[in-house]
Parts: sequence; structure tokens; C-alpha cells
Amino acid sequence: MYPTVYLNGQYLPKEKATLNVADLSILRGFGIFDYFRYADGNPRFIEDHLDRFFSSAKLLDLEMPVSREELRTTVHELIKRNGEEEGGIRFVLTGGYSPDGYTPTTPNLVAMAYPFKGPSAEQYERGMAIHLHHYERQLPKVKSIDYLEGIRIQPLLKAKGADYALYVDREYNVRESDRSNFMIVREGILITPVESILHGITRLHLLRLARQLGISVDERAVSVNELKQADEAIICSSIKGAMAITTVDEVLIGNGKPGPVTRRIMEAWDGYCASN
Ligand SMILES: *Cc1c(COP(=O)(O)O)cnc(C)c1O
Repeated sequence: MYPTVYLNGQYLPKEKATLNVADLSILRGFGIFDYFRYADGNPRFIEDHLDRFFSSAKLLDLEMPVSREELRTTVHELIKRNGEEEGGIRFVLTGGYSPDGYTPTTPNLVAMAYPFKGPSAEQYERGMAIHLHHYERQLPKVKSIDYLEGIRIQPLLKAKGADYALYVDREYNVRESDRSNFMIVREGILITPVESILHGITRLHLLRLARQLGISVDERAVSVNELKQADEAIICSSIKGAMAITTVDEVLIGNGKPGPVTRRIMEAWDGYCASN
């Protein structure tokens, strides 16, 4: 983490930026967050992230202690105070200090800046191995701090030699990963789920980029079978951008290498981000 942290209106050295143990985030895992990158001092897709952060807060009935304008100013101030051109910003809004350990009170708002370290060039070139895991996120549209299942299954993924899990629902549709969305390519069309997912900002912009590149887009459910038979598959998030999925539980996707549509999108992504 970079040295200066924003906490409830103050900029503090990170060692001093502490929450009380009565916070509902600690006692009950009740809180939300958001994460985005910045480069050359510019926060990437900030308005979309502010939209989503405020919307997550609303869905959990957490009262945002600052206005949208104040939060935007905080981001710029945090970047300036940390003095680094590049990094990632994480907002956290917690349930607050609860006298009975259950009822939310005034939320605590934190903003932290981190050095950015994305996947390696080798990982983009190789593509990701996926393990399918039956799980449905409780409140799909909320960017909750609760990653109980995602963290719990890390040893399982390691044992399977998988990089990430994709969550499969009771209808055998694939929804998303723990911290990423996903897409497939079938006969040149980019297809991605739209219901019961966290609406990733990377997903949103990759779809825009695809349309600009003349690639057709279809937002609809994707079944496990369809994923396994897809020509290409992609996992995407603010940290990853777009990465190829090259195996799903030992089944090769396409020829097991990043496919042509994925490559076109991966190659155009940095340019798209720099000009938007
Ligand atoms: C954060 C997250 C994503 C990806 O969102 P981005 O805004 O693209 O980083 C997807 N799914 C879940 C569950 C997430 O928490």
C-alpha cells in the first residue's frame, strides 16, 4: 500500500488509519468496496466506478458519508499525496461501529492506493486455466467485501492447477469468476452473461471496444456446455483487462491458445483505456 490513506475525511499515514473492532465489517463481513486503476495520475473510468460504488451502498442501505463530488476530489487528492503516477485505488465502506454487533450505524469510508502489478506477459500469452465451481453469489449486483467462497476455495484451485474459478449456477449457467467477469466467442460473436452478475466496468468497456472493432456482441446466459465448446473464452477485470481462458477443467478452449478475437481485443485494450 502507498503511505497515505484516506479515512473518514482525513489523510493519515497508513499505520494510523485504523478502524475500531466494533465495525460490522469485522464482526459480520458487512460492507462494500470498489477498485480501479490510475495511470499518469488519471483514474480509469472513474465515473463508472463512482456509479457502482454508490449503487452498491444503496443496495445495502449504507449511507454514503460524502457526496459524489467529494469522493471524486478525494481520489485526486489521494493520488497527489502519494506522489505516484500509477497505481490502484480501493474504496471501502463498512457497516460502522455497532453497539449491538448487528445493526448498521454510520459507515466508515476508507480509500487506499496501491502499487499496480498486473499479470505477466507470459500469463497473457499462455492464457488462464479455469475450474468450474458450483456457487451463486448472494447479492450479485453488490460489490460486497465478502469473498468467503472465493478465498475458501483457493487451496482447491491450487490442487487442480487452476488459476481461477468460474461460478456455475443451479441452471448450469456460468455467471462470472470471484473477482472477474467472463465472455466467450462463438462464430465470431462475443457473448457474455448479463443477469445475476456483478457488472464489471472492464466488461462494460470491453463490449464497447468490441463494437468499435466491428465485433458483434450478445448479452445472454452462457451454459457450461457452451463454454466448453466455445471457440474462445475471456476472463476480465480492472486488474487483468482481458485475458484468454485456454482450459476449463482439462477441456481445451479452441486450440488451447489465445484465439484471434481475444488477441484483437487484448491488443486494442491499452489504447482504448488511454483515450477514454
Ligand atoms: C470486481 C468484480 C468483477 C470485475 O469488475 P471490474 O469493475 O471489471 O474490475 C467481477 N465480478 C465480481 C464478483 C467482482 O467482485
